[in-house]
Amino acid sequence: MTAKSIEFMEVGPRDGLQNEKTIISTQDKLELIGRAIEAGARRIEVTSFVNPRRVPQMADAAEVCAGLPDAQGVLYTGLVLNAKGGERAIETGRIHELGAVCVASDRFAIANQGQTSLESVEAAKTLIAMAKDAGLRGQATIGASFGCPFEGEIAEDHVIAMAQALAEADPVEIALADTIGVADPAHVGRLVSSVVEVIAPIPVRVHFHNTRGTGIANVWAAVQAGATIVDAALGGLGGCPFAPGAAGNVSSEDVVYMLHRAGVGTGMDLAKLIDANAWLSGVMDRTLPSMVARAPAFPKPAETMPA
Ligand code: ZN
Repeated sequence: MTAKSIEFMEVGPRDGLQNEKTIISTQDKLELIGRAIEAGARRIEVTSFVNPRRVPQMADAAEVCAGLPDAQGVLYTGLVLNAKGGERAIETGRIHELGAVCVASDRFAIANQGQTSLESVEAAKTLIAMAKDAGLRGQATIGASFGCPFEGEIAEDHVIAMAQALAEADPVEIALADTIGVADPAHVGRLVSSVVEVIAPIPVRVHFHNTRGTGIANVWAAVQAGATIVDAALGGLGGCPFAPGAAGNVSSEDVVYMLHRAGVGTGMDLAKLIDANAWLSGVMDRTLPSMVARAPAFPKPAETMPA
């Protein structure tokens, strides 16, 4: 049965921007975060604490955190790959949640974070424990859950076993990520259902990229299969510096439009997201890949009735 509502996670400030060649100013990143909050986001992946030489766009992680608004009920997540990143995130005093990453294939895990798949699961479990020790939330994402840019197909059983192993660390949620945008809705439905079952009551989050046009269909399949938290990035920006050919995230506007039309609540205000898209297009100096912001409003705003 399809959920009546999902929890929306804006990942634009991190995953949306990390692959952009032009460095976006800290001030613009903070404006993006402020606009996401204004549009209703209560969970935002604000930055990553990774090696600034490898991901220069995220070099201002501490500055972004220092500028985060005190917003009631908003949870800020920092992506971390190792203990050093975890310590940097905790030191800011502004991050509510550490987001760890492990990867379903060895070759991508090595390219992304210098570990085998198995080692990356152990590292993620350590980071979840680290978050808890610091009084924060800890969660983990399984990258390349639906396919790997180097190894191709990923066995569903392997991803299910990874989720089971991560669940031992009792994270607040486990995410399945289609890092390179190869998933199809049937695959998503099967894998999400299986993972929901084996990690219950821990919820499943999903993270899709629209590289091959299947992103939005995959969101729908995941929600129907029991995923309760959905990642999206304003404007559909995104890509992974270590995954050849990876393209943008599913866009916040398109995901919110689809779910609202289908009767699934997100807590988001679509009109404010569309305004934010116009602002972000100006910052990026180009049209963004998302679609809803470029289409006429539907249904038409109600006309004022004569008195
Ligand atoms: Zn991503």
